[in-house]
Amino acid sequence: MSKFWSEMVKRTEPYVPGEQLNDRDIIKLNTNENPYPPSPLVKEAILKQLEGQLRLYPSPTVDELRRVIAETNGISAEQVFVGNGSDEVLAFSFMAFFNPGKPIRFPAITYSFYPVYAKLFNIPYETIEVNEDFTLPAKPFFGADGGVILPNPNAPTSLYMDLSWVESVVVNNPDTVVIIDEAYIDFAPESAVQLVKSHENLLVVQTTSKSRSLAGMRVGYAIGHPALIEALIRIKDSFNSYTIDRLAIAGATAAFKDQKYFDETVLKIKETRERLTEALKELGFNVLPSQTNFVFASHSNMRAVDLYTKLKDEGILVRHFNQSGIDNYFRITIGTDEQMDSLLKKLEWILAGEN
Ligand code: PMP
Repeated sequence: MSKFWSEMVKRTEPYVPGEQLNDRDIIKLNTNENPYPPSPLVKEAILKQLEGQLRLYPSPTVDELRRVIAETNGISAEQVFVGNGSDEVLAFSFMAFFNPGKPIRFPAITYSFYPVYAKLFNIPYETIEVNEDFTLPAKPFFGADGGVILPNPNAPTSLYMDLSWVESVVVNNPDTVVIIDEAYIDFAPESAVQLVKSHENLLVVQTTSKSRSLAGMRVGYAIGHPALIEALIRIKDSFNSYTIDRLAIAGATAAFKDQKYFDETVLKIKETRERLTEALKELGFNVLPSQTNFVFASHSNMRAVDLYTKLKDEGILVRHFNQSGIDNYFRITIGTDEQMDSLLKKLEWILAGEN
């Protein structure tokens, strides 16, 4: 704390991301990154940019990238906003659609960046308790004063609510914006993007960080009614005209053009997820039915924090949240089949008490 800090800085409680260890030998399963590299077209596109125009500013309107995202989603470019990772898109959305004095609602167990933004932008919030099985009730989200934000599938629980559930929350908040954070939607059945055409208060936020293997590049986007997109553009242009650099624009555009590679890697991750879930169950774990690229699990014989610590000692990093209600669960990112085999072997060994 310093007397020079603004009131805004004083009230911040910054988000703590999962550990990023530089040790190459570690099996890193703690931040839901994709175990596969991005499409080879991404590298090609970036190399071409490097040879070209880096001395020039990038496009402030990112038209080409917006166009390919629109094409991929069957909507128009005016319905797309692109930001520096979906975290930035979410931060801009808090500024664009939520107001001090009007409480927003989000689940009590959810992405821990939401309360961080709420504090930063002075937006009050109410948290909605999840059901006993970690699914979300719909009604408590109805008629929120200031708006709603929630991930679908939810993080870190990995559970997906179907589109009729999402639509009921959207329809029952006609005067405020409902933000559906779809960071993991490509590993789940159906996106709410198809509801955007008929609901002007719905904003869907997605990312290239998970299903397109581009966490290191920072490209996220929002899809919604052109009036919502215009609000986000106004915020961005009051903050930084060039949030997406030339390499990121080229790389992300190439990633969206390689649908085949995307389909293949997403399918591989889903298959590995099912295999891991079954194997964990055989080891006595309770595993929630994941529709994401991670699983959320607990074991009745050993505390999750101990499992987390023992795995870390063995060079495998998973994520544990010290939060009441989920502190006996740990989250495992889906890696390659080989990584999952190493994990399962270590878990078996740890549970047998041989360490
Ligand atoms: N939303 C959720 C639910 C997430 O888990 C994450 C990843 N930490 C993000 C948004 C942010 O992703 P990115 O900024 O990499 O697009």
